[in-house]
Amino acid sequence: MEEWTCRKCGASKPITKFTKHTRSPTGFIQPCRACTSASAKTWAHSHPHSIKATKRKYLSNERNRAKHNAGTQKWHANNPKKVAASLQKYARNNKAKIAAKIAKRQARIRNAPIRETVSLDVLWKRDKGTCQLCFTKIRRKTERSMDHIIPVSEGGEHSYRNTVLAHRSCNSRKGNRHNIAQQQRLFS
Ligand SMILES: [Zn+2]
Ligand SMILES: [Zn+2]
Repeated sequence: MEEWTCRKCGASKPITKFTKHTRSPTGFIQPCRACTSASAKTWAHSHPHSIKATKRKYLSNERNRAKHNAGTQKWHANNPKKVAASLQKYARNNKAKIAAKIAKRQARIRNAPIRETVSLDVLWKRDKGTCQLCFTKIRRKTERSMDHIIPVSEGGEHSYRNTVLAHRSCNSRKGNRHNIAQQQRLFS
């Protein structure tokens, strides 16, 4: 295989270790990939705001967001141990915050117009272990959660007909936005 000498770090490497570029006749350009990613990292480090703005702009597009979410989910599915470890770490370091959040949620549920005991196990069976927000399978131990179709904070019931099974990640991303299709599906 053809070798190039990186003009930045001076190392000799196979051409495939260089930066990919579709318009270059060889398909690659200088410097080597390691150098390119190192300088991208340095740049990102010194321009945190531009990175955030670029990311925000990218994710404001519906299709990009779907792509991004699918990628995140795939990573989560392939790295269950890392996900569990980071959840545990977060739980350890944010005990007060989590307790406050749970208390707030319970208070909201107490004030819901219609209230019944909703079991995650029953939702799991009813929704066949599938997230009702992204319609992919859920890992029972680490990913499942209950999602209120109409948020309790907006007057939704705490009942089976107002709850669906969802990935924790999908649930938190959804925030308080209503999923119209689901509402129609379940309330009609
Ligand atoms: Zn290099
Ligand atoms: Zn999901």
